[in-house]
Amino acid sequence: MSHVVGIDLGTTNSLVAWVRDGEPTVIPDPASGEVLLPSIVSVDERGGVHVGREAQRRLLTDAGHTVYSVKRFMGRGAADVAGEASFFPFELRGEGEGVVRIGLGERAFTPPEVSALILRELKRRAEAYFQERGEFDFEVDRAVITVPAYFNDAQRTATRDAGRIAGIEVLRIINEPTAASLAYGLDKHRAGTIAVYDFGGGTFDISILRVEEGVFQVLATNGDTHLGGDDIDRLLVEQVVGAVGIETTPEVVQAIRLAVIQAKLDLSAEEETELRVYLAGRGTAPVYRRRITRGEFESLIAPVVERTLVPCRAALADASLAAGQVDEVVMVGGSTRIPLVRRAVHELFGRPPHVELNPDEVVAIGAAVQANILVTGNRDMLLLDVTPLSLGIETMGGAMEKIILRNSTIPATGTEMFTTFVDNQTAVDIHVLQGERELVGDNRSLARFRLRGIPPMPAGLPRLQVRFQIDANGILGVSARELRTGLEQSIEVKPSYGLSEEEVERMLLESFEHAEADVEARLLIEARNEAESVVRATEKSLRNPDLEAAKRSDLAPGEIEAIESALADLRDGLASADRATLERKTQVLNDVTRHLAEVLMNRGVQSALSGRSIDHVE
Ligand code: ADP
Ligand code: MG
Repeated sequence: MSHVVGIDLGTTNSLVAWVRDGEPTVIPDPASGEVLLPSIVSVDERGGVHVGREAQRRLLTDAGHTVYSVKRFMGRGAADVAGEASFFPFELRGEGEGVVRIGLGERAFTPPEVSALILRELKRRAEAYFQERGEFDFEVDRAVITVPAYFNDAQRTATRDAGRIAGIEVLRIINEPTAASLAYGLDKHRAGTIAVYDFGGGTFDISILRVEEGVFQVLATNGDTHLGGDDIDRLLVEQVVGAVGIETTPEVVQAIRLAVIQAKLDLSAEEETELRVYLAGRGTAPVYRRRITRGEFESLIAPVVERTLVPCRAALADASLAAGQVDEVVMVGGSTRIPLVRRAVHELFGRPPHVELNPDEVVAIGAAVQANILVTGNRDMLLLDVTPLSLGIETMGGAMEKIILRNSTIPATGTEMFTTFVDNQTAVDIHVLQGERELVGDNRSLARFRLRGIPPMPAGLPRLQVRFQIDANGILGVSARELRTGLEQSIEVKPSYGLSEEEVERMLLESFEHAEADVEARLLIEARNEAESVVRATEKSLRNPDLEAAKRSDLAPGEIEAIESALADLRDGLASADRATLERKTQVLNDVTRHLAEVLMNRGVQSALSGRSIDHVE
């Protein structure tokens, strides 16, 4: 049987976990040992796709073809993101309603396609890991994926589509705070109330859960899909941009961004740090440096931390609880490592929050626990969630009528009756909305349905029952019947921001077509890494204290010159995208240095044997 994994598809970082012999464990990349995969995708000039660390490096050299924070665009329309488009160095296409597209060179990707590339990398990573462990069946084709509790239907659907495009069957979509509670095993505790405070890179979520007899119920959720570590980074970047005194091209802004992030991480552990901006091609010295204390940092970010407390109070009010009535507070997300954040949460709830587990791993761990429950059929634990937003339809005069109310426990259903306005009318248009506001324009347009095949009857006579169902993933399904005749009506769905079935299918096929270019991109990275390590080893040999002695007695005339020229040749070729040439040059350098390496090794052994330190050889 193939493995089922849990995936945290994060705005900033993604990771995958599984349950091994009853123990939930995160899965590292076998090659690098890294657990967090930066949720970054980059396309090079030859159309090769890079994901994770390598894509993050390309932010510096090719910001225009590198996408980060793609989760912010999932299930959203171009009009939604117009305001923030200027913050991103990549190109956002699309107008008004309809899916956003991200232009990367010759190709344009929808957000689910970009997320699918991240998922595919996690799948590859997990499969390599299982294969290395010698597991007979190492395929990974089923997963539980987490989303912020605040995600609406379009965003959840986009996440499920991303899984399908990546060739992964999404067994369940669960809320991140629910997953975090599972990771802490809070289901095993006696009855109590839990607040999950999740402060990541791009989103802030607060959830108030009730746990009783091993059953979780979400009492209230709130948050801000535009509040996270990114905002802290942006504040710092704004401070530095004015001060560096160089033209702020996208590459410079990205270099500043990396520098301020490093300073931020330092300040979670230290009282003071030096912020240093390095630029490619500007030598090894920083182009800008400045000392910054934790106190300065805290007063700069205090308003951001304060903004997280507003949804906390709203969620408590929704759950009819005072802050002091919460029994456990769980910290999730990398930004909760900031001491000021911990203090603020401690103060709000009047108790120290849980920080025992690694805050960037808890969600994936919980997803793995849930995946394990689903496949083992261990039903000891029931997972109840609520829908975060009301679901309804447009009625006459542009108002919204709610059919399923916010905070209803899912799965949930609701029905609504329709009829015709014109004699012999055989079709009715229905506009589905999600949100809490009275007017259509203030809510989220999810989809438009056309009910067809209504038997011709006088106006007002047909009794059309439309049924809305929210499944356990929080995703909407719609069915309809004409009650007089009992006929099932056909429904044509036009998702307002999502992808149609055909589009998902086509993207799945395309992802296979491009797989070859992607494999080539990976081989190029490997060739480049190999070349870099041979360059470093050669440079080290040329600095060896035994070199002069070796030159005099062991090496042929011109041997060092040949090595130096092969080294220079390979160094020049490092940035090249031509793998064959890179491999050939690496081979050449390897060949010409073999003899030198042997000689130096023998000398090293001799000087060690003769008991003299290298300084005394001469
Ligand atoms: P997401 O769920 O959005 O993918 P994560 O939980 O991985 O995000 O958190 C990523 C955020 O946490 C980033 O903004 C990162 O800079 C921040 N972060 C990670 N470690 C630290 C730290 N030690 N101090 C401060 N911020 C941190
Ligand atoms: Mg997260």
